[in-house]
Amino acid sequence: SPSIVWFRDDLRLADNPALRAAIEHGEPIIALFVLDEESEGLRPLGGAARWWLHHSLASLAERLHDKGATLVLKRGAAAGVLRELVTDAGAGAVFWNRRYGGPERAVDAGIKSALRAEGVTVASFAASLLHEPWTVTTGSGTHYSVFTPFWRACLALPAPRAPLPEPREIPGAPRPPASDALDDWALLPTTPDWAAGLRETWEPGEPAARRRVKEFLENDLPGYDSARDEPSAGATSLLSPHLRWGEISPFTVWHEAVGVDGAGGFLSELGWREFAWHTLYHFPDLAAKNLRPEFDAFPWPPLDPSQLDAWHHGETGVPLVDAGMRELWHTGYMHNRVRMVTASFLIKNLLVDWRLGEEWFWDTLVDADEASNPFNWQWVAGSGADAAPYFRVFNPELQAKKFDPQGVYISRWASKAPTEPIVDLAETRKAALAAYDAVKRAP
Ligand code: FAD
Repeated sequence: SPSIVWFRDDLRLADNPALRAAIEHGEPIIALFVLDEESEGLRPLGGAARWWLHHSLASLAERLHDKGATLVLKRGAAAGVLRELVTDAGAGAVFWNRRYGGPERAVDAGIKSALRAEGVTVASFAASLLHEPWTVTTGSGTHYSVFTPFWRACLALPAPRAPLPEPREIPGAPRPPASDALDDWALLPTTPDWAAGLRETWEPGEPAARRRVKEFLENDLPGYDSARDEPSAGATSLLSPHLRWGEISPFTVWHEAVGVDGAGGFLSELGWREFAWHTLYHFPDLAAKNLRPEFDAFPWPPLDPSQLDAWHHGETGVPLVDAGMRELWHTGYMHNRVRMVTASFLIKNLLVDWRLGEEWFWDTLVDADEASNPFNWQWVAGSGADAAPYFRVFNPELQAKKFDPQGVYISRWASKAPTEPIVDLAETRKAALAAYDAVKRAP
């Protein structure tokens, strides 16, 4: 009786403990991916993420095929899909790597107990985070709400395990179940086709992810700490979408970087990724609710849709903001420093609720994930874990002077943008600070 390997946010063959366990189990393998748009609470993927997923699945299917297995695509609520597939294929075991969002955990727990009740073997593995969220706790057994002690505690734990090698062969089931056609899922945009910039910028899939790590470690890591904040420097790893889809595992990145001189700053960015996911694990409503409830008292003024629209399309008249928003629209990515500046501008100069900005990023970022995106939005808003204090308002002009002194980034992305700001930066900053008083007064 075959074993099912259920791929989710781990679209890779190397360092894939679920796949490895299935191979060791010794039965023929059915590789499965489920496009689940039905289970309760799962957040529908944004447009850029759907684009990435399409290409990443195509790459995974090809790689599985080369090793001897077939990727089976099914659409529907995961519980029903698995029940049916297990029955039809007579599968005796199901293997997967863990997910950490609230609704995903509920789905997985339900499936696990239903299958076990039927006598099916189910095993789940740690593959997407360096440390399981329940293993990093304070002296009093609670979770951390401040990054520095969190990361110190991670570093004091036993080192992340060594990555598993890529299997040489994957013994696929001889008659794999019928699969949907990837094209029928319509994950790619048709009219309008807004993905040209994404195609120019990215190559989804495990082989490209592996090359990216190597190139980054060889060429860019030495200058990372000094140049990572300059958006035109190309100094960061650009691994975020590959990590988002698990085309490369954090264990692989960790072990390849950890021996390299001066890797500490880069590794601590992986630490922020961990911190965001651990925070989501403890606060599943991270995208919907202020982590600090006193922010519920924030008096957001009525929304001016034309201002939100100007922000979406990089028409605010503030050059660094417009450059960032245009980079995002064109490539599905924005440099971290500029993400902070554009987010601060939306929240603190346009006085728009951070959740609306989070939604736009969710739809447009190729690396959008349910932890890092809301976590960082709440960080900028001041409502989150270890957040920048609300009264810290980024000044986009000073930020541009400091981090894009020659204007290289701005002229690359916003040379044709308007130059008259839609709001007065100093006045709106004052209004934001006055509104923030309501939070400070909240009980
Ligand atoms: P590098 O500097 O090379 O960092 C290496 C890796 O560390 C990244 O690939 C990423 O996995 C992780 N990392 C770095 N910074 C952070 C951070 N602040 N939080 C969490 N992980 C981090 N990152 C996402 O992966 N997905 C998101 O949806 C996302 N939304 C964001 C929204 C806002 C408002 C802000 C300010 C930041 C957001 N980030 C998000 C974090 C960060 O901007 C990106 O991870 C980073 O720009 C990716 O580029 P890189 O891979 O070259 O990063």
